[in-house]
Amino acid sequence: MLHNYQVALTLKSRNTKTGPIPVSTTTYSTCPDACPLRKNGCYAGNGPLFLFWQKVTDQNVGGSWQAFVDQIAKLKAKTLWRHNQAGDLPGNRVTIDKKALLMLVKANMGKLGFTYTHYDVINNKTNRNLVNQANKDGFTINLSANNLAHADKLKALNVGPVAVVLPSSVQGNQKLTTPNGNKIVVCPATYRDDVSCKSCGLCAMQRDAIVGFPAHGVQVKRADKIAA
Ligand code: SF4
Repeated sequence: MLHNYQVALTLKSRNTKTGPIPVSTTTYSTCPDACPLRKNGCYAGNGPLFLFWQKVTDQNVGGSWQAFVDQIAKLKAKTLWRHNQAGDLPGNRVTIDKKALLMLVKANMGKLGFTYTHYDVINNKTNRNLVNQANKDGFTINLSANNLAHADKLKALNVGPVAVVLPSSVQGNQKLTTPNGNKIVVCPATYRDDVSCKSCGLCAMQRDAIVGFPAHGVQVKRADKIAA
């Protein structure tokens, strides 16, 4: 039986960073134990996004996984959309739910869905294989790294693109590489008002460059500590 992951799809996001694209929000219960930002520095852990996320988690907004997947299937071909402005992939917080993920990957075919995951893909082979297959099938799952050394380890797996939290002091135009020499591109929406995911789309691409996000928000101190 399919587990019910409460999820809400906003068809036209008002988030200036994403731009007006479809954006989903999934119940907090999907956030994996492996994420060091869980209850501790997550950018979605405060403000209006947190209030909305809480409503989804309390099942006051959104609906079932099946209803969400049906909405994705109906999006126009080549629609760029972001899965999870908050929340993570369907799963039990340790292992990704294969059935639920495959439903989403199938519904996304022909569209440009992208997301990020903190599920452990280094030690958990099931997660690694599922993420690899989803990326091959056109649903882009970025592997979220906690720091530059972690980013190198995730990159070496070669199962998907990598994103990393950077110290808040990083400037947008800084040229950065990881200890292993992997190139980092700072997300342009974090330092330019005229760029959003809608115009950029980098995170939806299978790519070599690692996308970096300088820690921000009121929880910057805790996020900074994790990125260090
Ligand atoms: S790099 Fe581009 S696609 Fe990724 S979050 Fe930033 S603006 Fe959006």
